[in-house]
Amino acid sequence: MNRHVAIATLNLLPLSVSDEFRAALAEWHFTGHVIDYPPKSGWVCCELCEQLHLSHNFEIANSQTNTSLLVDSSCILRFPEIVVRDRSGVAVTDAASRNACLREALQTRLKERALEPLQTALKKTPEHRPELERIVGAITECGRLDPKDILSLFDILRCAGIAFIPSDYTVNIRSAQATRQMLAMSESQRERIRPALSRDQFKRFAYLFRENDRVFSP
Ligand SMILES: [Zn+2]
Repeated sequence: MNRHVAIATLNLLPLSVSDEFRAALAEWHFTGHVIDYPPKSGWVCCELCEQLHLSHNFEIANSQTNTSLLVDSSCILRFPEIVVRDRSGVAVTDAASRNACLREALQTRLKERALEPLQTALKKTPEHRPELERIVGAITECGRLDPKDILSLFDILRCAGIAFIPSDYTVNIRSAQATRQMLAMSESQRERIRPALSRDQFKRFAYLFRENDRVFSP
């Protein structure tokens, strides 16, 4: 028995009916809940194998003993006995589909987290309701926002004193319209949306503005 399985066995058996590890694992299922942590939160512990990791925890539960554990997704994938169900409630057994279900649950949670400050803003700043509702729609439908919408959103949230995590929002810079919006922004506006840009986007963003300066400077 490797160390990983030995520790998992010690943690799992007291919370399970069976006293045999593989049979006990089969009593457990992924609940669909993902516990997310803000960026740079540091290490979190998997309650099954006790390994530290830098990602999110996924909840597994045993309905026979009414207990739950917060575990790293790698532990769910490592032990195929833990039941993972797709959106329609059907158990999926192949590794790729199980992984896809876990990724989908994580994306759902991250989208919820991105929408939470907007829900607060809708109550706190009713004057921005039409714009906020349009942005909620864009996040819900495609998960990305044009630079102009990111800027409007961040300005609304900052003015209203609503906490948010800029990197929760994905900027669309692929379309010609998005590029035009970025080119039209002032330096101060670019700085305000900068925390939402990925490293690669920032590189492209900087290049575009250098190009812009070169083309349009007198
Ligand atoms: Zn683990």
